[in-house]
Amino acid sequence: MNGESFLQAEKTSGAEPDIQAAGKSAYYYDARLYNLGGVGHFFTTRYGGVSGARGNVFNASFGKEEPAHKDNVIENFRIAARDHGLSLSRFTALSQVHGDTVVNVTEEIAGARFGKPELVIEADSMITRLPFVPLMTTHGDCLPVFLYDKGRAVGMVHSGWRGTAADISGKTVGAMVREFGTDPGNVFAAIGPGICGECFEVDYPVARVFGERFPDVRAVKWDGARGKYLVDLRAVAVYSLVRAGVRRENISAPEICTACAENRELFFSYRAEKGMNEGLMGAVIWLEK
Ligand SMILES: [Zn+2]
Repeated sequence: MNGESFLQAEKTSGAEPDIQAAGKSAYYYDARLYNLGGVGHFFTTRYGGVSGARGNVFNASFGKEEPAHKDNVIENFRIAARDHGLSLSRFTALSQVHGDTVVNVTEEIAGARFGKPELVIEADSMITRLPFVPLMTTHGDCLPVFLYDKGRAVGMVHSGWRGTAADISGKTVGAMVREFGTDPGNVFAAIGPGICGECFEVDYPVARVFGERFPDVRAVKWDGARGKYLVDLRAVAVYSLVRAGVRRENISAPEICTACAENRELFFSYRAEKGMNEGLMGAVIWLEK
């Protein structure tokens, strides 16, 4: 963790919060976004829910639960809603498909998968101008991109490699401009925990996509020892946002990796756990007025 972000957990004893032993909730926040007025956000960790064999795991993904246990996800967010003073029925989530579709969450859509459990929308990005409608995407290495048009609108982006390559963050800013008249110069963006440029190993076909579409970013490098290409998705996401008109100084992008060994206790990682991860993290943002 560095100065741009912090973890909030209830302390037990000693200097470090022992969140695993205590079974308490723990959330990650971007410090700069946290301190802006008119917006709320959080990013869940492994801890504080009711999923998992020991009943203390916070899993944010319906797809990671057995059919009989999908209510666990609702229960996990009931805890998170209570912790943040939100109404659970207003939480809105997607069925993520690694595409580049952006959904404007209007009153008809607000509450999808929560207050409206039958409503399943396939997309990877949401925007809204409705206050206190928490937009939630799920992540297991894919970047969460929180967007805030100060006082006017918010956006929540699931940016995996396919979405990142398809410029999903830039397209989401574009959708805010189109739907809400957003000035990109007023947008603050925070990129949360996700896989880093040293951990994201790919083969040539994926590396080539990034090399061809984002030649200015130099996001791709060859690691001879591992015999793999490495791609820095965070650098590409920052580039997408800047190209869409967001000012670089208004982008918070701390290098917090979900797959690096130092953070494995805190976050699930699809890559590091070879798909055996028992949950995903939830990224949530809402407008407060
Ligand atoms: Zn890493």
